[in-house]
Amino acid sequence: MTPAQQSLVEQVRARFGDRAAITDAADIEPWLTDWRGRWHGQAGAILQPSSTEEAAAMVRLAVEQGVALVPQGGNTSMVGGATPPADGSALILSLRRMNRIRAIDPGAMRAEVDAGVVLQTLHDAVTAKGLRFPLTLGAKGSATVGGLVSTNAGGTQVLRFGNMRALVEGIEAILPDGTVHDGLAGLKKDNRGYSLDQLLIGAEGTLGIVTGVRLKLVPAVHSRAVAWLGLASPQAALDGLRALEGLTNRVEGFEILPEESLKAVLSHIPGTRPPLEGNHPWHALVEAIADNAEAEPPADLLARLIAPLVDKGLIQDATISSSEAQAQAFWRIRDSLSEAERATFGPATQHDISVPVESMPRFMDSAAREVEKAFPGVHASGFGHLGDGNIHFHVRAGERGTSDWLENEGPAVTRMVHDLVTAAGGSISAEHGIGVMKKDELERLSPDRVRILRAIKASLDPDGLMNPGKLV
Ligand SMILES: Cc1cc2nc3c(=O)[nH]c(=O)nc-3n(C[C@H](O)[C@H](O)[C@H](O)COP(=O)(O)OP(=O)(O)OC[C@H]3O[C@@H](n4cnc5c(N)ncnc54)[C@H](O)[C@@H]3O)c2cc1C
Repeated sequence: MTPAQQSLVEQVRARFGDRAAITDAADIEPWLTDWRGRWHGQAGAILQPSSTEEAAAMVRLAVEQGVALVPQGGNTSMVGGATPPADGSALILSLRRMNRIRAIDPGAMRAEVDAGVVLQTLHDAVTAKGLRFPLTLGAKGSATVGGLVSTNAGGTQVLRFGNMRALVEGIEAILPDGTVHDGLAGLKKDNRGYSLDQLLIGAEGTLGIVTGVRLKLVPAVHSRAVAWLGLASPQAALDGLRALEGLTNRVEGFEILPEESLKAVLSHIPGTRPPLEGNHPWHALVEAIADNAEAEPPADLLARLIAPLVDKGLIQDATISSSEAQAQAFWRIRDSLSEAERATFGPATQHDISVPVESMPRFMDSAAREVEKAFPGVHASGFGHLGDGNIHFHVRAGERGTSDWLENEGPAVTRMVHDLVTAAGGSISAEHGIGVMKKDELERLSPDRVRILRAIKASLDPDGLMNPGKLV
């Protein structure tokens, strides 16, 4: 640790006790590497406030000492956003001790929680009150509310409820100079100029430390059903989704995948079975829910709405889950896609991208063709949240597959995919953020945007002490 870091740690311990700062290397080690093991950093200590007041005091002490801080929640970032710099120039500030559900108000359908509350804990707490927080993702056992806010996380229910930005009513945060911003009143109307809450959502820890969040809740799920559709193309999938959306607002999930990805799951993941009998070029999983006993059961609803689309030929074949176990089996296929693809097809460059929803089918087709032409032998394909215009577009090494393909050719492939996304008016980061992984690409493709982000960052954090080296 530098003398300034050492002095900060001593002051923090003197004021808040030994638990407020971890310095044991073995305890720090697990938090120095990102989830996928791609980035490894160094940090001489992890500061751990247990309250907003402690967090604010720690930031003020860090400012006095000129010590940079890396805010960290569950460390599940997909883009290296919570990994400290490799040179040890920053300390980690972990929110994990701030894990209190402050209040759940069933009448107003809202919750107020500490930023370090883990998503699964939040789900359990609101379910116990007959309510639901309608955002979920694969990392729910580790990801924290503060991390979800700071990455504006998405997941599989964005279709109906939106991403984190749509679910946050107010934020409490420590700004880079140690000021506490209290936006927890969650005013429905507040036009006092720029919204600090909105600036903090998706800021990836570069504009301050989120300590508390007020969240919207929705009624709990009473029952659900999942349909599996066989389809000719992504365009047929989108037409099917639009047809369903025109008839009901109870569709919550709509995920697509190509036949080859389904086959990869069936051959690699034990206990999985093909949902449909025949082969279909594309597949979609559709989830519908009921939030009360009086509503038409979701399985009946899906059957009633999907049958005419099969008769018309828009959908080639369909089946609807007849039990919760079968619904879970369908979701298991979707959730196993990345693992099965990795095991079956070998190395791939992966891109979390979005384009305008209506353009996505055309983009999937044309981008795959162009990439395969430019890099003969590779295979490109996408799966995921079609209804959000967000897919995970993977380019597999295919015949070019050598052990160093990713390292040698991966960056050029990624640049090409990002160029195509940008030309289609899309985003090179739909839900995972920029972190360190996409920083250079953001600057290459959106210099004007980065110039403005930097100006905002410089005005709030002139000394660059909040999550240095990330996003901008
Ligand atoms: C298996 C798996 C599946 C995933 N699926 C999805 C998905 O479907 N959709 C999706 O959007 N994401 C997904 N993710 C990504 C990840 O879960 C989200 O980015 C999540 O929001 C990160 O939460 P976290 O607490 O782990 O944050 P961390 O990883 O600790 O931090 C993420 C970023 O937020 C900052 N940060 C964290 N806490 C705070 C805070 N309190 N104040 C200020 N800044 C903070 C960090 O500095 C960093 O920049 C997935 C990740 C995994 C591992």
